[in-house]
Amino acid sequence: MLNTIYLSNQAMKMVKLIGDFFTKNPETCARIECYSSPHYALTKTFAENFNIQEADSWKVFEELQKKIDEAEYVQVETANSTNKSYPVSPEEVNMLRVLTDYFAPQPKMSPASGFVGDRLESAMEAYKWFFGASEGNGEDIRESFQKLLERTQEATAFRLETLVAPETIPNPYKAVLDLLRIAAEKLNLDPGIHEMLKRPMRSIVLNIPTFMDDGTLRVFTGYRVQYNDALGPTKGGIRYHPDLTMDEVTALSAWMTWKTAVAGLPLGGGKGGIRCNPKEMSKGELERLTRGYTRALARFIGPYTDVPAPDVYTDSQTMAWMMDEYSQIVGQNTFGVVTGKPVSLGGSLGRDEATSRGLMYTVVQAAGYKGIDLKQATVVVQGYGNVGSHAARLLSDLGCRIIAVSDSKGGVYNPDGLDPKEVLQHKSQTGSVTRYPNCKTISNSELLELECDILVPAGLENQITQTNAGNIKTKIIAEGANGPVTPEADEKLYKKGIFLIPDILANSGGVIVSYFEQVQNQMNYYWSEEEVRNKLQNTITSAFKDVLAISEEYDVNMRVAAYMKALKRVSEAMIVRSEKPYTSR
Ligand code: NAD
Repeated sequence: MLNTIYLSNQAMKMVKLIGDFFTKNPETCARIECYSSPHYALTKTFAENFNIQEADSWKVFEELQKKIDEAEYVQVETANSTNKSYPVSPEEVNMLRVLTDYFAPQPKMSPASGFVGDRLESAMEAYKWFFGASEGNGEDIRESFQKLLERTQEATAFRLETLVAPETIPNPYKAVLDLLRIAAEKLNLDPGIHEMLKRPMRSIVLNIPTFMDDGTLRVFTGYRVQYNDALGPTKGGIRYHPDLTMDEVTALSAWMTWKTAVAGLPLGGGKGGIRCNPKEMSKGELERLTRGYTRALARFIGPYTDVPAPDVYTDSQTMAWMMDEYSQIVGQNTFGVVTGKPVSLGGSLGRDEATSRGLMYTVVQAAGYKGIDLKQATVVVQGYGNVGSHAARLLSDLGCRIIAVSDSKGGVYNPDGLDPKEVLQHKSQTGSVTRYPNCKTISNSELLELECDILVPAGLENQITQTNAGNIKTKIIAEGANGPVTPEADEKLYKKGIFLIPDILANSGGVIVSYFEQVQNQMNYYWSEEEVRNKLQNTITSAFKDVLAISEEYDVNMRVAAYMKALKRVSEAMIVRSEKPYTSR
């Protein structure tokens, strides 16, 4: 499969800085020789020139080098109206690798790198040495280098394409397969059904031509995976991210299948997205891309087939565009084709905080089971975005003391407690929870290891691993994020007596209220917020009780129990839909 990405604006600026360094009369990196190593020189100069932190400058370099190393094909776009796009030859792609490697912390291609001698000459030597390029006077190599340097300076965009073997199985999909196997063994699952559930029912790749604001045309790659629809229409978010891959979408669509099944909803699981960098696109570009994606996908989605929703870097506006485009195609208002819409356009009341409210209801159940009085309980929240900030507020409303919170920039700790609403206000004013007054500053890893009653990881995946599981000192973990605890860490935590509410249960409040949105759209009759909350509480509490009962009956941790409940529902639906058992055909 051909995966296409564009270099971010920051990475583009860095390519230009690197290119400038190798030209005869550099314009922007005149002082670069003053530093002790090329890596330090580049990142420091970049940080100074573009007014960003040095640490962020290192990250830009890492991103740039990784993407250029992985690229199979490179295309340079320019503003020149006669010839807007040049393919970069395989030799020039290798030259680009040499130029960036020169600035790596530990260069592999240019071992003698430094600031002495003719810069282009040393890059040419490195290229010949590393790639075994042709002998001769090297004039052809010099010419190619010079052409490449000119292009980097006039480039408006760098398009990188990578060939990915379709059978590649990265970690998220592997984790799905591992947990499926464990739950299948415990349930003595029909091997035929197990075989089917290892793979998605349908995977769609779409290439979406989109006009950018400057008049150039870009082709974006989009995906939609419908993993399993035995229980009902598939359901799951649409994610916009420059590094999105089909395998990631597949793993997430499997997760959605288990999540809707655990919650007892009449829905299957799906997921989709587009490889793009929404942070660098205008609203108009995003609208044209979203509408193009919807047109390409229209025949595969619908209220009774597959219902998308927002996910990373998509929101209610994205859903409004999708709904509008789809409605124009089918010739009637079809609100139920997507969920997570604005309330003025068929969205449900209570959707914004639904994931956190659902998490809060599961914490209430877990605390009851563990004999913890929530009025005395201390809470630590990692990640202070939509899920984390609402969760902190709702748990605080129950009487819990929020003693520490964090975001990507770091954490704050006060054993006497923080006011979650004030922290949110501080974050919206300053951009981060850090520097919230009267608190000790702590790192994200320190935060996870604080002594508390309830820990809510609501930021990223893979935060509690085999390495730090032994240091976790909480009684309950409620997974607000998807996959914050790795399967290897699960068993360690279970043996320590830590009660874990797994993501597919703890954060299923979002999809439960999305389902309520679908139901309201189909009735064309809307519920009060209180009605939504009551229905959410009943649905998620009953799911929690089912999972706990399985965990006790089979003596397995809550994650395996949740997978078992999901698998049981999905496989029963598959079996009753079929004439004969799957294995005896
Ligand atoms: P968000 O973007 O609103 O917030 C994410 C937060 O995590 C931000 O505060 C960010 O600064 C922080 N963060 C990022 N990197 C971090 C790091 N290294 N350490 C600590 N904090 C870090 O996202 P969200 O909607 O709150 O989603 C958070 C998680 O919950 C994601 O895993 C998402 O998939 C999952 N989730 C969200 C929903 C939902 O309805 N929003 C539903 C189910 C699952």
